Amino acid sequence: MADAIPTPTSLDGVTSLYRRFRPGRFAELRGQDHVVRALQGAVKNDRVVHAYLFSGPRGTGKTTTARILAKALNCEHPVDGDACNKCASCVAITRGSSLDVIELDAASNNGVDDIREITAGAWHGTPGRWKVYIFDEVHQLSKAASVALLKTLEEPPPHVIFVLATTDPHKVLPTIRSRTQHLEFRLIGGETLSSLLHDVQGAAGLAADDATIDAAVRLGRGSARDALSALDQLLATGSLSEAQPEFDGLFHALVHVDAVGALRSLAILTREGWDPEQLAESFAAEVRQVFLLQVAPEVADAVDADRERLVAWGSQLGLPRTVRILETVGRAMREMKSAPEKVVTLEVALVRLTKPELDSSIEALDERVTKLERGGVRAGAPTPTPPPAPALRPIGAPAPAPAAPVQKPAAPLPEPPPPTPTPDGEASLTYDDVRERFEQRVVPRMSRSAQMLLKSARVRSLEGNRLLIAVPSEEMRRSTETILQGLRSALDHEFKTPLQVEWTVDATLSTPSPAPRPRPTRPSVPVESGVDESSAGDESVLVVESVADHLITEMFPGAEEIS
Ligand SMILES: [Zn+2]
Repeated sequence: MADAIPTPTSLDGVTSLYRRFRPGRFAELRGQDHVVRALQGAVKNDRVVHAYLFSGPRGTGKTTTARILAKALNCEHPVDGDACNKCASCVAITRGSSLDVIELDAASNNGVDDIREITAGAWHGTPGRWKVYIFDEVHQLSKAASVALLKTLEEPPPHVIFVLATTDPHKVLPTIRSRTQHLEFRLIGGETLSSLLHDVQGAAGLAADDATIDAAVRLGRGSARDALSALDQLLATGSLSEAQPEFDGLFHALVHVDAVGALRSLAILTREGWDPEQLAESFAAEVRQVFLLQVAPEVADAVDADRERLVAWGSQLGLPRTVRILETVGRAMREMKSAPEKVVTLEVALVRLTKPELDSSIEALDERVTKLERGGVRAGAPTPTPPPAPALRPIGAPAPAPAAPVQKPAAPLPEPPPPTPTPDGEASLTYDDVRERFEQRVVPRMSRSAQMLLKSARVRSLEGNRLLIAVPSEEMRRSTETILQGLRSALDHEFKTPLQVEWTVDATLSTPSPAPRPRPTRPSVPVESGVDESSAGDESVLVVESVADHLITEMFPGAEEIS
């Protein structure tokens, strides 16, 4: 029922898609089926209450729904509790000229006098018709105005309905909240937005290709209003890059913990005309996708090329850092609201993320250790500077053939240790067999993000049912926790025997260039004696750890490890 194609509204001089295709009846509302069911059912069965609280993120249709409720209540030819959207009453409400609907933006009319004046008028109704008062951003009413509103809600005039809309229900007086029926509006899913945009472009006869629609869905971030505005903008500018800031430079700088690079990327974006708040918001949205793609890919909205891009950045950042970026940018967004120089707030946030030694929080300490570890790994192999083609991202380099995504025979893999003899009973599983099937059959069967993560992973040994897998960095090893479930079932499926997965870190796996290269030279710090440098394998973990330990004790004399 909630999937009728919106009927374009003909309002003089209105051209924006959002206003032309604003839903005019319950059947046209998308993505809020639970709200539609409750309200349409109430109208149909004559069980409408005197006060509703509509809460939810901006752009999810709260005031639109309030108007539809007003239409349905006053419609001359209602159908099944829904408005016809054609009769004189419906048209007047659409045009904003109906005397039955009074809208008030509490953000600008938040005084007690405004409320008294309005609620006094509530008693002079036309008998037999419903008057609907819509208070937007009701949490912004002053205390006195809230109390005046509460008085009215305690003894509501008959035939008057209050719809209080808010993005922040917790800031509404509890006594007001308790007198309302609370309906929560949700962000609209990517698929629902996409089908809405496709329908609108059909109805409006627009020439938007799928890439444009995908971009608008992404920019809409769960809001039909924002998605339609984005579609408008994309069609007007004719270019995706103009409508969306490009964050790859920033991601690259964050991956390489490069403060100067991060500030330079920000400067480029602001020079392009992006406003700092808008940048922070867009960047937070991208990082959120990076985060979701690591922990719950099915919930992420990013599509196609964008999705691949963000999965790649995620596997390089690792989950802990992704979370920290998300938190730090989120904090910056809140601070920006009251900051005189908003760009400075953003700059400070980026420096915090790239110079964790400035920050005293626990996460920052954790990050410092991670950074030291990475420093240790890279000590002999200098960071692959500017070109944004970091280890895992196949930009510029030819992408691996889709049929065999994990094959990389040219990579300078150290010679694997000889096959471990398998115990009796599992004679069919040999090391070579497992190694080959892991790369060619197990990994390709996994989710795209898991594939990115395991792209450079290699099976190192098989002892009994213990499978040792090497990954290029400690961060990646930690990220493997998020895919363990999937890996176990893929292994079970392939080998039909339970295998116990263990991980090790081997820095040589992260070699970014296809040319053979020697193992990184050890930094000139004490290395555990007894480690055989010539044999490949697990000892690189020891090396990395000992370098980190050494640097930590150097920086924090007398420090003890707390775990
Ligand atoms: Zn009607």
